[in-house]
Amino acid sequence: MEKKNIDWGSLGFSYTKTDSRYVSYWKDNQWDDGAMVEDANVTINESAGVLQYAQTCFEGLKAYTTIDGKVVAFRPDLNAQRMYDTAHRLLMPPFPHDRFIDALDKLVKANLAFVPPYGSGATLYIRPYLFGSGPVIGVAPAPEYTFRMFCTPVGPYFKSGIKPLKLQVSEFDRAAPRGTGHIKGGLNYAMSLYAGHEAHKNGFAENLYLDAATQSFVEETGGANFIFVTKDNKVVTPKSPSILPSITRRSLMYVAKEILHLETEERPVPLDEVAEFAEGGLCGTAAVISPIGSITTKKGVIYLPSGMEKMGPITQKLYDTLTGIQMGRLEAPEGWIHTIA
Ligand SMILES: *Cc1c(COP(=O)(O)O)cnc(C)c1O
Repeated sequence: MEKKNIDWGSLGFSYTKTDSRYVSYWKDNQWDDGAMVEDANVTINESAGVLQYAQTCFEGLKAYTTIDGKVVAFRPDLNAQRMYDTAHRLLMPPFPHDRFIDALDKLVKANLAFVPPYGSGATLYIRPYLFGSGPVIGVAPAPEYTFRMFCTPVGPYFKSGIKPLKLQVSEFDRAAPRGTGHIKGGLNYAMSLYAGHEAHKNGFAENLYLDAATQSFVEETGGANFIFVTKDNKVVTPKSPSILPSITRRSLMYVAKEILHLETEERPVPLDEVAEFAEGGLCGTAAVISPIGSITTKKGVIYLPSGMEKMGPITQKLYDTLTGIQMGRLEAPEGWIHTIA
């Protein structure tokens, strides 16, 4: 496969247009057959549900070139399921699981020249999304929908290498107790932009959001879940119905328990307990794990003992094991790796 002439090593986490993308339309109560198209632009009615009432959701996953030269995706069945659940909550017609995987295969095969080579540090980021494309004026679900999936080669999320991040506890809430925090809807991101902007202005990489009801339990950041490591090497992740179920976090918890044989706990984590942890990290598809250096709270700054220079040792082991599985260097648990080419 002749690769595109791209300087893989200098790619950032940004959009590069690739050759083709997958599109399917839902109309008259059914999905059409779907097709690959070349046009990267979307033309929709001015009154489309997505434009007026933000009826839209998305997913994010990656394809990798493995050490033995295959192109694989990591647990895409879980992205298909999560998008299905999100669509249900936003009254959109879910895109069927098998169609989602078929679209992924077609998309990546058509853009193989954009899949970064093994060892380049870059990956192919895949963005499935679903939105109300039919017109509405009264508040109601749209009469027609569009499912699309495109891909773009991306570099490491944090280009300067994996330096521990400075977080602040946000003054804003991310998700209401019986709201939409658990689904991957565009709406959760639109309203987080202001808080994110404030955090950056104050010199922080991300916001740590507390639970909206009591302002005392750790939820997540705007786009990544938390894991913490206790001083006796237990891996702990916050539990709450308003946290988005990160596939990276669920995979890391499995790796911790079943591969590294560490004790794991998914439970409510009070902010007051964080000062007692040895290590912490943010987890999501884009960066896998980003270590936390400090968290600025109303009561002062918490410095995690792992420091401001590098990942803590357990976080590093989790990172190495999961990326090793993704890149084909380590044996994957059954069903985690979907081979595309
Ligand atoms: C997508 C997302 C994550 C990370 O999920 P992954 O499946 O690991 O990529 C975490 N939090 C929020 C709010 C998200 O939207």
